[in-house]
Amino acid sequence: MTIVVIYLTVTLYKRAVKPAFSDEKGYTVIVDAGHGNPDGGATGISGTGESEINLKISQKLSAKLKEKCYNVIMTRETEEGIYSEGNSIKEKKLSDMHNRERIINESGADIFLSIHMNSFSDASVSGAQVFYSVNRVEAIALAEAVRQRLIPLYEKNDRILKEAPKSVYLMNKAKIPACLVECGFLSNAENEALLMSDEYQEKIAEAIASGIDDYFKGDTDEK
Ligand SMILES: [Zn+2]
Repeated sequence: MTIVVIYLTVTLYKRAVKPAFSDEKGYTVIVDAGHGNPDGGATGISGTGESEINLKISQKLSAKLKEKCYNVIMTRETEEGIYSEGNSIKEKKLSDMHNRERIINESGADIFLSIHMNSFSDASVSGAQVFYSVNRVEAIALAEAVRQRLIPLYEKNDRILKEAPKSVYLMNKAKIPACLVECGFLSNAENEALLMSDEYQEKIAEAIASGIDDYFKGDTDEK
């Protein structure tokens, strides 16, 4: 009983004094819905397009961050990629990546979160995976805070953080703390069904938003 009272007191105290967002500027988070036409990303086993789910979760994440008083920049808000030139798919994808890179490094935002769905040849593989950019050491704390919040969403979801490979263009180019969240596997039937549902997309968005909040509070232990 005593422990519960202390815990509640501490929790309420922390909420009451949570000062980080009372200043006028607030933190700015870039929410990047991965891919976008003509780049659909991965395809689920029942035909679900990754880019579409990325966008839905990103929109939900954006709404939740705004509720928590963060400023949000979305890299894309429609099914279309943000290419500004190019004729072939390859050229459009290149232009799209350059435009996203510009948003990351020229918007003055504090952190960058890229939202993706995973796919693997082994259909039994499931769960979330968070990658961090090696360019800024803070990205590890950010990625870990998000990972902690995602753990309860799947069974046996204990995958540790991974360094983003150099081949992941935006993770390689980002000059602010950046991480890439693979929210689940479209190649796994159960994950895919969950990721397609509005309710589960809400849960994922809430988990990521809470992880971001934990990161800015420097508070990854308390849940
Ligand atoms: Zn992807």
